[in-house]
Amino acid sequence: MSELKKGPFWITNTLTRKKEEFIPQAPPHVGLYVCGPTVYSDVHLGNVRTFTTFDLLYRWLLHLGYKVRYVRNITDVGHLVGDIDEGEDKIAKRARLEQLEPMEIVQKYTNGFHDVMRLFNVLSPSIEPTATGHLIEQIDMVKRIIDHGYGYEANGSVYFDVPKFAEKHAYGELSGRKIDELMTNTRDTEGMDEKRSPLDFAIWKKADPIHLMKWPSPWGEGFPGWHLECSAMSTKYLGLTFDIHGGGMDLKFPHHECEIAQSIAADGQAPVRYWMHGNMLTVNGRKMAKSEGNGFTPEELVTGNHKLLDRGYSPMTVRFFMLQCHYASTLDFSNAALQAAEKGLERLMAAVNTVQKLKPSGSDDGGTVELEQRCYAAMNDDLNSPVMIAELFEGVRLINSVNDGKIAIGEGAIARLKHLFHAMVFEVLGLQQETAAAGDDTALDGLVKVFIQMRADAKAKKDFAASDRLRDQLLALGIVLKDTKEGTTWERA
Ligand SMILES: [Zn+2]
Repeated sequence: MSELKKGPFWITNTLTRKKEEFIPQAPPHVGLYVCGPTVYSDVHLGNVRTFTTFDLLYRWLLHLGYKVRYVRNITDVGHLVGDIDEGEDKIAKRARLEQLEPMEIVQKYTNGFHDVMRLFNVLSPSIEPTATGHLIEQIDMVKRIIDHGYGYEANGSVYFDVPKFAEKHAYGELSGRKIDELMTNTRDTEGMDEKRSPLDFAIWKKADPIHLMKWPSPWGEGFPGWHLECSAMSTKYLGLTFDIHGGGMDLKFPHHECEIAQSIAADGQAPVRYWMHGNMLTVNGRKMAKSEGNGFTPEELVTGNHKLLDRGYSPMTVRFFMLQCHYASTLDFSNAALQAAEKGLERLMAAVNTVQKLKPSGSDDGGTVELEQRCYAAMNDDLNSPVMIAELFEGVRLINSVNDGKIAIGEGAIARLKHLFHAMVFEVLGLQQETAAAGDDTALDGLVKVFIQMRADAKAKKDFAASDRLRDQLLALGIVLKDTKEGTTWERA
């Protein structure tokens, strides 16, 4: 790999709101933490977009040659309904409704999450820690926060003292919130009989007697606050300060703001050097949410079994559609956009197959060196996958022109194109050949040949109505038959 490819890699640090050159603290090692799912229901497509964004980051870092330790957690306790400090645990509530053990809920939806990640070809993290597996670390962290004067116990619960922390440290830096404004704007009074300030948040909660998920602690039986697990697990596996922390935009406040405060209060160190946030997925211009009725599941998307979908779309079509938008921009989901992505992906995959068959002629490089440079430059510019994909389509035009004999390029240029397309399409974008998109699919080829034989048989019997019907039915499926001197061949419409 040339120096050029290696970098520099620039990312938008949401903490400083600036595009900064990414320099790991201990190259070639990179520590990456991403907030994972709360496993109490099926993931919806908005979640898939977030994990695809950080999959692209992970893949790009690996492609640049870094050794990445990627930690993505599973939240299996402590995340309360409404994301607040009072009320029922999301998992316990689901367990009650489905009449299952909380851990059955956790297993069921963790399995489902993994299935979805595999469907969209999202790579597994290096470590996938669970909150319930790290209670000792979390209790220790609460102790350190109390010891340093930033936490207090009240009636078996422990709260983080935000005003006290804000006296010496920046609170609200990541989300751009000011403590005075937060004070005047905070209306929620949950837990106010115990909290000293409405800004304080629970780092340990006392469990009532009927609570299903609880553990012993120095403050009695209880469970950890939701923000605590990420602080405890990220620093356990990546060190007190690590390179990159990612998550969805909606987690910036309070979740990530609280993570920063907890780490500084417990260990005196800001935990993260580069914060990255992925933007939302909207549907026909509206935010995707279960309450809006537009939060369809990946399964509904693939089968087309949802009132907002004209038909089903393949997982790779959806992945490609997502990667055609920059991660920091909102992405609007519509049937028209999906169908355009589907066509684009087919053209791209056809070129991936065509490039293998190109014959060299002469020594012209066809602009492939610059093309390669532009692809790397786009990805090094804050993971600009839409620009990189647009560059690949320049390459598709070149590949098709060479294949049609309109342009001649040399052996080196062909090798460069092969390598570039393989690296960008499969390794970096993480796209896969799907049966429906694979131009050289042998099973499909075999199937179409059966139809061609049936049509030939019909013609031989002078049953032209039947032979035309077979041709038209194949055409409706996007397969065009061509009668030549050598016999009948087929290609995609
Ligand atoms: Zn988190």
